[in-house]
Amino acid sequence: MATQVEQTEKVLDDPVWQNYLNDIGQRIVSVSDRKDINYHFKVIDSDQLNAFAAPGGYIYFYTGILKEIGNEAELAAVMAHEISHVVSRHGIKRMQAALGVQVAYALVFGSDGTSDAVNTAIGVGMGLTFAGYSRSNEREADMFGLHYMVLAGYHPRGAVTMFQKLAELGGSGLSSYEQLVSSHPDTQERITRAKAYVTENRATIGKLSFGSKKYQQMKARLK
Ligand SMILES: [Zn+2]
Repeated sequence: MATQVEQTEKVLDDPVWQNYLNDIGQRIVSVSDRKDINYHFKVIDSDQLNAFAAPGGYIYFYTGILKEIGNEAELAAVMAHEISHVVSRHGIKRMQAALGVQVAYALVFGSDGTSDAVNTAIGVGMGLTFAGYSRSNEREADMFGLHYMVLAGYHPRGAVTMFQKLAELGGSGLSSYEQLVSSHPDTQERITRAKAYVTENRATIGKLSFGSKKYQQMKARLK
């Protein structure tokens, strides 16, 4: 799957950015409930406003969305949400349902593309990767995401401002983040839930970081 993604998309040629994204990803993985797989974090050089998890532990961020993000906590919010989809096996379950267990596994965990069944499945799998998740999967990923970002030391207010930003971008017709648009009722709901999380945990989150300065330095490299 990752091979197919990287054949059609251009990986950003900047090791500093690739290492930075990997550091944040690994920091969140280290507090997650699923550390038994190898995660790979990559920046794709494209103006699309998107980030997504491909089955097998591959998580991609487009430079388009990185340019909209304002601090490390916002990046961590999107990252923790994507890692939560992997932890909860949302992608692989969806693929198994559509393709059958055997083909789904061949597709995700390595195939050299020799089998016809796998070749056919690659097309279906790619479609599913971009098709968006169910509402309950999204809600679950938001909930775990908030929890993980806090455990990793990021202020959960980053999730509130990030979701608000995505809602605004959706209103402009630009948002493609996991196929979410602002007209989707869940967009307002997820903002409300993230705000409630911040309020409920007010006593313990005061010292968590936003990482604004570091992120602005990194963002300057994307120009
Ligand atoms: Zn999602």
